[in-house]
Amino acid sequence: MCNLRDPGRHRAETGEAALVTGTAVSERFEGSDLSDRYSRQVLFPGIGRQGQERIRHSRVLLVGCGALGSVIAEILVRAGVGSITIADRDYVDETNLQRQSLFTEEDWRASLPKAVAAERRLGAINSAVRVHSVVTHVRAGTIEELIAGQDLILDGTDNFETRYLLNDASLRWNVPWVYGACVGAYGMCVAFVPRRTPCLRCLLELMPPPGSAPTCDTAGVIGPIVHLVAAMQSAEALKLLTGRTDQLNRSLVCVDLWENRYSALGLDERGRNPDCPACGRGELEFLEGRMEGQAEPMCGRNAVQISRSVPRPVDFGPIAERLAAQGPVTHNVYLLKASFGGCEVVLFRDGRAIIRGTQDIEEARGIYSKLIGD
Ligand SMILES: [Zn+2]
Repeated sequence: MCNLRDPGRHRAETGEAALVTGTAVSERFEGSDLSDRYSRQVLFPGIGRQGQERIRHSRVLLVGCGALGSVIAEILVRAGVGSITIADRDYVDETNLQRQSLFTEEDWRASLPKAVAAERRLGAINSAVRVHSVVTHVRAGTIEELIAGQDLILDGTDNFETRYLLNDASLRWNVPWVYGACVGAYGMCVAFVPRRTPCLRCLLELMPPPGSAPTCDTAGVIGPIVHLVAAMQSAEALKLLTGRTDQLNRSLVCVDLWENRYSALGLDERGRNPDCPACGRGELEFLEGRMEGQAEPMCGRNAVQISRSVPRPVDFGPIAERLAAQGPVTHNVYLLKASFGGCEVVLFRDGRAIIRGTQDIEEARGIYSKLIGD
């Protein structure tokens, strides 16, 4: 049985304004004969010349360019999408190189933003594709500008809050999106088509409590599951971009490459929840910013506070166990303290956190996301 909330349980049970940094584009291959560069893809009956033309005129938004995003971006750029907008808030770190296949040691040494490093690499792979890198935290206030004119959203994020935002944005602007997630050797993929399939909130109405789900930074992750999930997402993307929605995998696909378990939870239109807050009642709370976590620097304390609009109680025991691999963790009934990336994280029972050792809001958000999971 697939478990969106906690991939680990599956194993146990079943065994602001965006900063547009540049555009890599060349006219060199515009109008080149499709039978050359894309010949093997055109030969594939599912795509053909007509499908390739549709791909060439398509516009894709990729949110998050870490592990999944790297692989998705490379596949779609090689496949010849018309344009890809890559939005990511992070920069290349040494620990990324094991699985984030677009990045090099040079990118890490230069501390390049992932979106920028990705744009450079992708421009060298296929100069006919317009690649826009946007260094930003995708949130309620920035998503509209990013989604305008896009045909499809690809999920390369690492947190639930952004995924729920993508779900709302997909419904508001009628743009399909393809969810993907992985941790350890376990991964999941599902394509959501507004009002034709269930949406994310039909499957999981509420965000999991902070810290309840493992993350790659607490439970690790291996390269093969990243490539597998990203490959599944990219295949669904090609079906959507070529208009072959009849071929979509109408299942939530779950794979554990270490435990050798594969499952698919069938989802069709009948699986839509009429009481779903998002696609049923039309309450797009994440898009309206009502559910967004707030981050603010704490005056004179070299710290950032992250608070939730809707407090969600956390259970310190399992979080402490999960974070133990990162370094010393202590907790009492009121709060939990852990160290990460040179910062100290203090987490309170209502999901609020203080990240000490930085005044950079995005860095603090990133640490919260990596440790706590949303
Ligand atoms: Zn729904």
